[in-house]
Amino acid sequence: MTSILDMTKKELAEEVQPSFRANQIYQWIYQKYLFSFDEMLNLPKYFRDELSKKYYIMPLRLLKTEESSDGSKKYLFMLRDNFTIETVLLPMKAEGFDKKSGKIRSAKYTICISSQVGCKIGCAFCLTGKNGFVRNLSAGEITAQVLFVKKINSIDASRRVNIVYMGMGEPLDNLQNVVKAVGIFADIDGLSISPRRQTISTSGLSSQIEKLGSLDTGALLAISLHAVDDETRQKLMPINKAYNIKSIIEAVKKFPIDMRKRVLFEYLMIKGINDSMDSAKKLVKLLNGIKAKVNLIYFNPHAGSEFQRPNEKDVMAFAEFLNSHGLLCTIRQSKGLDISAACGQLKQRLEYELA
Ligand code: SAH
Ligand code: SF4
Repeated sequence: MTSILDMTKKELAEEVQPSFRANQIYQWIYQKYLFSFDEMLNLPKYFRDELSKKYYIMPLRLLKTEESSDGSKKYLFMLRDNFTIETVLLPMKAEGFDKKSGKIRSAKYTICISSQVGCKIGCAFCLTGKNGFVRNLSAGEITAQVLFVKKINSIDASRRVNIVYMGMGEPLDNLQNVVKAVGIFADIDGLSISPRRQTISTSGLSSQIEKLGSLDTGALLAISLHAVDDETRQKLMPINKAYNIKSIIEAVKKFPIDMRKRVLFEYLMIKGINDSMDSAKKLVKLLNGIKAKVNLIYFNPHAGSEFQRPNEKDVMAFAEFLNSHGLLCTIRQSKGLDISAACGQLKQRLEYELA
């Protein structure tokens, strides 16, 4: 049996007769959050039975939820083959009263999703990478994370959310399924999440960045840069041997960027490794001429990690230098620090607790 979530609406329309049934099924699942064919009341009974024999809907089972004091929630899901993945819901703005318009302002959400079970890249600072690679997620296992999280948080279907592919795994190492997921997310009978609300984060697989660019999906790009010279980057991210900084910058320069958007460069600040003023200077130079935005991230320590969290004053000084030199820079608030929100950490802790 396959999950119906693995199918684009077009693929589904080729399977079911008449083809408008595909629109109806999409709406039931993605807009009314039904995970059982039996409840799809505008479909004839015999057809619902047929669907149930052929497909299942939800490939995820919720194992554990952790809620942080800052409102972010982390979910551990079990796949049908019993492997586990993590998804994080990050409220970016709480619901409140907007003085300007005099109306209730609805909350804004970003959902951080996984693209693989484990990861092949093996970055020295990352728990997911340390535990090795298991398998790619299918397109349906990727989209199911958002669907599930929207449903259990009663986030109305009409409410748009942002998606970041910053959970477990390297999305560009699973390009085909990720690109398919971008399209399924965007379907207007489905979750209707425009590619411009979807950010794909990569450790810098230059050739795959070019491939993604040539597919022109409209999704935004984030590069996990983390260092400004190859020597340091290689120590943090062994993938830098295959794809060095220069090759990444060249690939980014070719990437189609929406007029109003920028490429995001993530920069993980690690004490004594890459947090000096000298690094800040080199970063400004490196990104010169690119429509870039830098996101500084505090390293989130985990058991057994050899690295340390940077000092706040060093992060502030780094950010200040970038901003004063015309390089847009934000500091990622360490959301969910108390729920081990850096990806891979909940899974690790649970396995530890269960052991
Ligand atoms: N594989 C992709 C996307 C998933 S990782 C990538 O590397 O871009 C998403 C982000 O989490 C990356 O920027 C990564 O550097 C960051 N990350 C990994 N371990 C972390 C930790 N211990 N503390 C803070 N951020 C971490
Ligand atoms: Fe993989 Fe990203 Fe972790 Fe590196 S940081 S090991 S690429 S998930």
